[in-house]
Amino acid sequence: MRRKLAAGNWKMNGTAAALAELDTLAAALSGDGPQVVICPPAPLLYRAAEKAKGTGIAIGAQDCHMQEAGAFTGDISAAMIADTGARFVIVGHSERRDAHEESNRDVRAKAQRAWDAGLTAIICIGEALDDREADNTLDIIAGQLAGSLPDHATADTTVIAYEPIWAIGTGKVPTLAQIVEVHDFIRAELSHRLGAEAAESITLLYGGSVKPENAAEIFRAENVDGALVGGASLKAADFAPIIDALAAS
Ligand code: PEP
Repeated sequence: MRRKLAAGNWKMNGTAAALAELDTLAAALSGDGPQVVICPPAPLLYRAAEKAKGTGIAIGAQDCHMQEAGAFTGDISAAMIADTGARFVIVGHSERRDAHEESNRDVRAKAQRAWDAGLTAIICIGEALDDREADNTLDIIAGQLAGSLPDHATADTTVIAYEPIWAIGTGKVPTLAQIVEVHDFIRAELSHRLGAEAAESITLLYGGSVKPENAAEIFRAENVDGALVGGASLKAADFAPIIDALAAS
């Protein structure tokens, strides 16, 4: 059985006061539901991890550096993230691939550092609108997956998030058929790389404008095991119904 997972990416939103949302979310969760991960901004990681203890909510970071340590002013290492009590880290989010010019090679190195620190890497891949319109989506996905995923991925170390860039923060969502096509393709690519058993065990998330209103439809896809949620994860009142829809899927 693959684990179902709902991850919330708060991006650069929230100060300490926002952590009250964790209490509200924890109160709304049932014990045996999907794995829930909240990825707050880095300065909140330690406090979030302390607050989330015993709630069933895990904490994740939004990025880590590709080197173990050293003269990288302003960056944070995977080991530092683990030291806060966080257990996950997002790597290769399209906003970082774009604004920080991160390559597949960088993302792969970050994922490897995350693994080395005992974190689960949520590795993001997804096509731009131009790629989609030129019918290049599956080629882009294949290239990103091949380049961003270190060897020997397992269900414990790795979650893959398919996030079409044109759907992030835009309110535009692919059709269910488009989501199914890409998720089935990712599963098949993983199977070629890792073997069928390992590929079947890895959790695949869809991300891009997931809301309480569309979550149940998206979770109908067999190879969608959860969601990476941006805007709708900031408030527990929005995120909790998405988690409920995942639990019911
Ligand atoms: C994201 O940032 O990963 C994301 C999916 O954002 P949103 O849900 O706001 O589209």
